Amino acid sequence: MSTPRSANATNLAGMSEVKSGFGRDFLLRIGRSNPWLPALVFVPYIALTTGYAVQSGNLSAGTRAALVLGGILGWTLLEYLLHRFSFHSKGHEGRSKLNPVHLLNALSSGVHGLHHDKPNFPDLVVAPVLLSLPSALAYLGLITLLSGSFEAAAFFMAGLTASYLVYEFVHYSTHQRRPRTWIGKFLTKHHMHHHFTDPNNYFGVTSPLWDLVFGTRPKRLEVK
Ligand SMILES: [Zn+2]
Ligand SMILES: [Zn+2]
Repeated sequence: MSTPRSANATNLAGMSEVKSGFGRDFLLRIGRSNPWLPALVFVPYIALTTGYAVQSGNLSAGTRAALVLGGILGWTLLEYLLHRFSFHSKGHEGRSKLNPVHLLNALSSGVHGLHHDKPNFPDLVVAPVLLSLPSALAYLGLITLLSGSFEAAAFFMAGLTASYLVYEFVHYSTHQRRPRTWIGKFLTKHHMHHHFTDPNNYFGVTSPLWDLVFGTRPKRLEVK
């Protein structure tokens, strides 16, 4: 699929790079990733955390399945929120990088700006593990604290992380593979519209669900 570059997407990337507070060389060094790396890291992560949780926990199979399902659905919302408010964040600009939230937003928006600048470059599509793994560990710790149960947090995060890997596969496919199914064509069109026509809308990648809920899908996109 040909992917023309619009002025919008190019400007956005330039802005992200300059205002992230990090130089382009540094962002390229930390932002490039082999597309397989997330799976190589997060499949063992899921196996280790759920394996330990099963040995030390006592939740029923039904509760564990419900937690995994909750994590799968939770990712669809997190995917939308991260893309809209972190990857396209402006709130960190001119703020102290000592604040971990501003630091994470600055790094994420800087790296995502490179992806908008070079959307066809395969090593800039998936999130670098340097950012995703600490985030996953922080979510695991936070949910353990809030729920009071490592086992519950591990199963919720297993669903969320598996769903995240599907997101990486879908995102990579929209950029690097020719869509053959209706859903593939629909998701590719939705994401290319975000890249090349309207970077301030169409934030969902695995589904348009939360764009519909939050009104960031102003136009229906026809799929032929
Ligand atoms: Zn993309
Ligand atoms: Zn984007």
